[in-house]
Amino acid sequence: MSDKKPFEIAREALKQITARQLAPTPVNYQAIYNEIAGLPNVQPFPEEPLRQIAQALPARNPGQEKQRSLLEYAIGQRNWLGVQNALVAYSGFAMPGSGDSAPAPLAPTPATAPALTPEFFEQIARLIEYARPALGTDDARFQEQMQLLIQALRDPAAEAYKVKAQLADFSHRLSFAAEDQAEIHLTLLKLLQLIIDNIGELSPDDNWLKGQTDALKEAAQPPLTLRRLDDVERRLKDVIFKQTEAKGRAQEAQEELRQMLATFISRLSQMSETSGAYQGKMEESMRQIEQAKKIEEIAPVLKEVISATRHMTSESTSARDELRAMREKAQATEAEMVKLHRELDRVSAQARHDSLTGALNRQGLDEAMNREVSSVRRKDAILSVALLDIDNFKKLNDGKGHETGDAALKHLATVARECMRPQDTLARYGGEEFVVLLPDTPLDKGVEAMTRLQRELTKRFFLAGNEKILITFSAGVAQLAAGETGADAIKRADQAMYLAKRAGKNRVIGA
Ligand code: GH3
Ligand code: MG
Ligand code: MG
Repeated sequence: MSDKKPFEIAREALKQITARQLAPTPVNYQAIYNEIAGLPNVQPFPEEPLRQIAQALPARNPGQEKQRSLLEYAIGQRNWLGVQNALVAYSGFAMPGSGDSAPAPLAPTPATAPALTPEFFEQIARLIEYARPALGTDDARFQEQMQLLIQALRDPAAEAYKVKAQLADFSHRLSFAAEDQAEIHLTLLKLLQLIIDNIGELSPDDNWLKGQTDALKEAAQPPLTLRRLDDVERRLKDVIFKQTEAKGRAQEAQEELRQMLATFISRLSQMSETSGAYQGKMEESMRQIEQAKKIEEIAPVLKEVISATRHMTSESTSARDELRAMREKAQATEAEMVKLHRELDRVSAQARHDSLTGALNRQGLDEAMNREVSSVRRKDAILSVALLDIDNFKKLNDGKGHETGDAALKHLATVARECMRPQDTLARYGGEEFVVLLPDTPLDKGVEAMTRLQRELTKRFFLAGNEKILITFSAGVAQLAAGETGADAIKRADQAMYLAKRAGKNRVIGA
């Protein structure tokens, strides 16, 4: 260390800078000063420029943000090693000496990553609003929280960290609310099945009712869509209406029979009374006749006998007439009940479903088509209609018998149902022709769906006994045009199906 006074060192330092022709910067002055004073030449720490660099570094993700604050801390500590480590880590590499020299993975940050704009928050708010009806309205606290969150998301002055905390809290509650809704859904479904079972139990011997409740049970299987629920509702109404009607009529008939029986019994007792009195009268007359001494004494007795017999005859004639009338009435009532049951069976058979394949029948198709077409008009959506006809079905019938043909129809319907989406509708259009309604499906996707069904049928052979039989079909697909009726769309699909037949069968053609 120099024994010079500080002002002497300072003066000497200035002289040396001039003598050595150095730039008169603070750094150079400090270096010369230290040299003269005999101090170690410590390089000055460029705190300010380093801070400016640190501030200029973008923090695009939490990793970079953290490393940038570590860098600022190291600058404050004048710690070169800290600065170096923070910079290395910032640029995506692990810190030296940590034993891991592999590049540290950072979240990819594309230069075009969207900023958290008000539009972004608006989208989240709308998402929550759209989901709202599905979450029920029972939990008032949850509803309020949802409302507050939506407001915060739309409030330009809201602080991001607060909104973030609200969002986290909301999603926590949302998970419970969604679970609740799923549970409610399941329980309601079970309840519905229980009701259906109970309706079936009401009249276990009624074939009509059994057929209907079986179909209902099947329709109420998950996955439930609005279309299926609609179907369940209609069937349930049918069942309840028909059952009430049948029961009311049966009760009336029963009451009539009961009254007839009561009349019959009182008639019977009257008759036996009458015949008892007649018997007595006859015995008395016989006795009087035996005791009569003169013919004049017999005449009045005979008169009485004739009158009693006449009375007895008229009594029994009217009783017989009444009985005949009663028997006729009972027969008519019975015939009416038979007719009513036959009518119920007919209605059942003609309900909306085809009894062989379980697909909708023509009436069911008409109703489903009306629903789909009005939905298309309402929502401005699209609908495709496919018509398929089994190839060479007559040959199968002729070769293997009608029953095998029936089983083949069932097989096709089963595979079709399993391969369709829940919102699609399968209907039996005619003997071996089916119509498929495909909502929200443009023409090309409709053609694809039918081709997929064809492929599925080549994988799932139809088994006639032990023999594997490949069922193929030809199909036409039409997309409902604006202003077109459902029937016209089917007609176009039919024409396309015809073209598919002409082109060699086993193919799908779009109309
Ligand atoms: P293509 O390939 O041109 O369609 O010929 P195809 O033999 O399939 O057509 P066609 O219209 O000549 O014959 C259809 C046959 O389907 C005639 C009819 O006996 C039979 N069929 C209609 N309904 C039923 C049914 O419910 N069960 C059975 N087993 N056969 C049926
Ligand atoms: Mg045909
Ligand atoms: Mg055919």
